[in-house]
Amino acid sequence: MVFLSDFLLFMTGACWGSFLACWCGRLRRGEKISRGRSHCEGCGRTLRGPELVPVFSYLFLKGRCRSCGQRIPRQDFLCEVGFGLLALVLYRRYGLQLQAVWLFAVCLPAGGICLTDLASYEIADAHLFLLGLLFVPGSLAGWCVYWAEGLFSFLVLDGSILLLSRIMQKLLQKEALGEGDRILIALMGLYFGICQASAGLLAACLAGFVLLALRRQERIPFGPCLVLGFVLLLLS
Ligand SMILES: [Zn+2]
Repeated sequence: MVFLSDFLLFMTGACWGSFLACWCGRLRRGEKISRGRSHCEGCGRTLRGPELVPVFSYLFLKGRCRSCGQRIPRQDFLCEVGFGLLALVLYRRYGLQLQAVWLFAVCLPAGGICLTDLASYEIADAHLFLLGLLFVPGSLAGWCVYWAEGLFSFLVLDGSILLLSRIMQKLLQKEALGEGDRILIALMGLYFGICQASAGLLAACLAGFVLLALRRQERIPFGPCLVLGFVLLLLS
């Protein structure tokens, strides 16, 4: 029974991961989220029953469309697995508490930021807005900082990062930090206050250096590094 309940919990989380991957894919392609049922990006065929089962459909189809052989993005599969595992971890730690549902909900737009930034160096306004909105119930319930401290930290961090990025832009003669990254740093302040957000930012910078070394490119998506710092603070 424990195995069955864990499996169902994992699949519930994976379904949300699948929805998020589909949403991010549509954002990247400039499609509306309400644009019909899930379909293959290559041939446009509408996916049927078993092809819609998260995690397992990818494994059975060996990561390709059954009709045209188009590759299914690996990050979509990882997103499904990641949110399935997250549901299990949160359940083990918090049980059936509302806080677990809230933490899971906060991780959804955070995951969306990772997916879109990794794929296209873009952070969607919708994900940032959702992340900001979820602060309200979290703050009222006492799961993150009091709203006044959060708002103050948001404004201070937003202002200082804006100033810093303008100075760096002048010195480097190119954009040093995207607007989405700046708002994400400010949102870290909103949720955790300036001190904790600074620790999260430090973790993000370390992750950024690692990513820079691994990718060996001049430009890296900084959103996933910030999300890592954010999630570490969220779950610590
Ligand atoms: Zn296809």
